[in-house]
Amino acid sequence: MMKQHEKIYDLIGVGVGPFNLSLAALLDEVEEVESLFFEQNETFDWHPGMLIEGTKMQVPFIADLVTMADPTNKYSFLNYINKNERMYQFYFLQRLDIPRREYNDYCQWAAAQLNSCQFGKRVTNIRHYKDNEEMFEVEVTDLKQDEVHLYRSKNLIMGTGSVPVMPASFRDLPSEDVFHTADFLPNQDRCRKAESITVVGSGQSAAETFRELLKEQRDCQYRLDWITRSPGFESMEESKLSLEHFSPDYVDYFYQLPQKRKDEIFATQGLYYKGISNHTINDIYNLLYEYSVGREELDVGLQVLSEVRDVRPKQEGGYELECYHNQKKETFTHDTDVVIAATGYKPLVPDFVHHLADFLEWDDEGRYKVTADYRLVKNERTDNEIYVHSGISHTHGVGSTNLGLSIHRNKVIINHLVGREVYPISEKNIFQSFTV
Ligand SMILES: Cc1cc2nc3c(=O)[nH]c(=O)nc-3n(C[C@H](O)[C@H](O)[C@H](O)COP(=O)(O)OP(=O)(O)OC[C@H]3O[C@@H](n4cnc5c(N)ncnc54)[C@H](O)[C@@H]3O)c2cc1C
Repeated sequence: MMKQHEKIYDLIGVGVGPFNLSLAALLDEVEEVESLFFEQNETFDWHPGMLIEGTKMQVPFIADLVTMADPTNKYSFLNYINKNERMYQFYFLQRLDIPRREYNDYCQWAAAQLNSCQFGKRVTNIRHYKDNEEMFEVEVTDLKQDEVHLYRSKNLIMGTGSVPVMPASFRDLPSEDVFHTADFLPNQDRCRKAESITVVGSGQSAAETFRELLKEQRDCQYRLDWITRSPGFESMEESKLSLEHFSPDYVDYFYQLPQKRKDEIFATQGLYYKGISNHTINDIYNLLYEYSVGREELDVGLQVLSEVRDVRPKQEGGYELECYHNQKKETFTHDTDVVIAATGYKPLVPDFVHHLADFLEWDDEGRYKVTADYRLVKNERTDNEIYVHSGISHTHGVGSTNLGLSIHRNKVIINHLVGREVYPISEKNIFQSFTV
C-alpha cells in the first residue's frame, strides 16, 4: 500500500544517530522549521553490540546533543541527569567521560521526547522533481506495517553514519563463530563457551573487546589471542593540543586545501582517531601483569606485524587463520574457535544517493562533492539542498565522525537552512594556528 502525505516539510532527515538526533533536538526550538527524521531501527540504539560495561565516551559529556550550541536547551545531558534525579551521584562521580551506556540512555531519553523522530521507518528512495514547485519526494518504508509512504520536503539531511566492514575472507562463515566487534555483546555467551578466541585488529573496539575477554579468560579458561598487522598496539593521539584537530578551526583549514592534499594528509592521521586510548591499554597491561604474578603461564597471545589473510573452517571444527608476517615476509597459521573482526567501519552512502548521479557533482574518485557548509554540490540550479553528516571525511577531514563537532556542524546547517544566524559561529576556538 502506498500512502501520499500532502504536507511539505522544510527538512527530512535520513537516519537518527547522534548527529541527526542533535539536529532534531536543536530544531525543536526553531519554530519556523517543520522537520521529520526517519530511522530504520525500532528505537534509538547507539552501537548496542559495543555497550560493554566499563567503556566510556571518548569526548566529554559537554559534547552532548545541544550544550555546545545552547547550554540552556532542555535536551542537555545535565537536564537528563537532573530529571533522573542523579545530580548528586553525578557530582560526586567527578568525571567528564561518562559511561557509553549512559550516553545511549541519555540519547534514548531525548529521542523519546522528539515527535520529529520516527523509528522503524527506512528511507528507500529519494527523487528530486520540478512541477509547479520543486522539491524532494522521499519514499519511506514502514517496516512494522509493511507500508510505503511518500513524503515531500524542500531539503534533506543525510545522517546515515557508517556500517561495519568485514574483510572478504571473514564473510560467509557461521556468524556465531566469526563476527564483527559490532556484534560482540550478543555473542559474549558464545565466547564464554569457546576453547579459543582470536581478536583481529588493533583499534579502540579491538582493545575494548580484548580487555573484556581478558577479564573473564581465567574463569572461562579459553585461549585468547590478539593479532594485528600494525607494527604495534598503538595509542591514540590524545594530547590536548592534538585534540585541537577536532575543532571547527581545523575543519575550516582542512576544507580549503586542494583535494589531493586532503587525501594525502588524511591518510597520515590514523592515530588521531584509529588508535587505542591510553587508559584501555593500561587496563590490559595491568590485567596481564596481575595474571602473570608467580610466573603463572598465560594462555594469552599478543601478535603484531601479522595480517590475517584467510579464515578456513577445519574438518574437526574451529578455524585455521592464514597469517602473513609483513616484516619477515613469512606465512604462518593460527587455530581458533572464534574469530572477532575488529576491522572497522565505512561510511554508509545509500544506493538512492548514487541514483542522484546526474543531480549531484562527484570527484575523480567517485565521491560526492560537499560545500564548506555541509551541502552536497548540485549540477542543477535549485534552492533545494541535501545537507550531509556522513561520508564527508574526504572533504572535511579527520573530525567528520567526531561527536565533539556535531553541534558545530548542526549550527552551520541550521543557520543556512533558516537563512539567518540562529546560532552565532565563533571564528577562533583554539590556541594554535593551522594556517598562516
Ligand atoms: C563503538 C563506537 C564507539 C564510538 N564512540 C565515540 C565517542 O566516544 N566519541 C566520538 O566522537 N565518536 C565515537 N564514535 C564515532 C561516531 O561518533 C559514532 O559512530 C556515531 O554513531 C556517528 O553518528 P551518526 O549519527 O553519524 O551515525 P550512526 O550512529 O551510525 O547512525 C546512523 C543511523 O542511520 C540509520 N540509517 C541508515 N540508513 C538509513 C535509511 N535508509 N533509512 C533510515 N535510517 C537509516 C542507521 O540505522 C543508524 O541508526 C564511536 C563509534 C563506534 C563504532
